[in-house]
Amino acid sequence: RAKAEGKDTYRYFEASMGAEARDKRVMEHDLRQAVARNEFRLVYQPQKEISTGKMIGFEALIRWRHPERGDVPPAVFIPVAEDSGAIVQIGDWVMATACEEAARWKNPLTIAVNVSAVQLHNPNFSRKVHEVLLRSGLAPGRLELEITETALVKDMPRALATLRQVKALGVRVAMDDFGTGYSSLSNLRAFPFDKIKIDGSFIKSVDSNGQVAAIVRAVLGLGRGLGLPVLAEGVETLGELKFLDAEACEIGQGYYLGRPSPIETFGELTGVTAPVIQDEDARHRSGS
Ligand code: C2E
Ligand code: MG
Ligand code: MG
Ligand code: MG
Repeated sequence: RAKAEGKDTYRYFEASMGAEARDKRVMEHDLRQAVARNEFRLVYQPQKEISTGKMIGFEALIRWRHPERGDVPPAVFIPVAEDSGAIVQIGDWVMATACEEAARWKNPLTIAVNVSAVQLHNPNFSRKVHEVLLRSGLAPGRLELEITETALVKDMPRALATLRQVKALGVRVAMDDFGTGYSSLSNLRAFPFDKIKIDGSFIKSVDSNGQVAAIVRAVLGLGRGLGLPVLAEGVETLGELKFLDAEACEIGQGYYLGRPSPIETFGELTGVTAPVIQDEDARHRSGS
């Protein structure tokens, strides 16, 4: 639903060129200015050890509030930013902001950052990660890069070289959205992943749908065989969580365990208290 709203807000041209193409051009233009105009922020979603409920870390998720159009979901603007190349600048901002914020937390929780294909194939990527780690002072082992298989297929040798470079820094890498897109079991062998994230579409109704359950069990077996912990995305109900616990899935993430929220929400764990101006809308109105 949010996806459709974000898309519709951009449909303000009606012409033969095609509304889609025009929407995209306008959005590309707006995205190029969005970092400088402070329109992005990060929210953080808990990742928890399922057997104990213990907090392990957070995934950083970008949010874009357009001054006129309001919130535009990442599923809408990330693909546009990838096509135009703006994702490199946006991705740099995400990496720097997430690492700088995490370095200040009072507990050494992990911070997972999404990396798109375009970023990964940029020749400076591992150097930039190294610089951000040095500047922020974040222990490399606390940073986890989330990479989808789609990001690997464009240029596999290059992707492998880059993953090896970031791993040499002590950074960990997780395969995101496993089971969707270009999933191939050979990718698990060819690339040095530290974790498998099962896509949320396989967790929905895992406790009531036998076919979905069979797939999730198979992925858990794969993780065990390869010695990789498995994280289940999109855990929305207690029933799903109980199934995953019974099947010894290591880590969970989803609305049932915690929604993506501003970091102040987790002040007890991070020690980060509310900023002076708490109200997001007030901040945007004042233009700061
Ligand atoms: P993702 O990396 O697979 O992130 C998980 C998405 O699932 C997030 O959507 C999250 O809010 C949502 N989610 C979490 N728990 C649940 C649940 O229980 N149920 C349901 N239905 N959804 C849940 P979000 O934040 O809208 O992000 C969508 C995608 O956009 C991400 O998928 C990721 O591919 C991309 N993205 C988000 N932030 C960034 C970023 O900083 N950089 C890049 N390159 N991509 C990003
Ligand atoms: Mg992710
Ligand atoms: Mg995912
Ligand atoms: Mg995804």
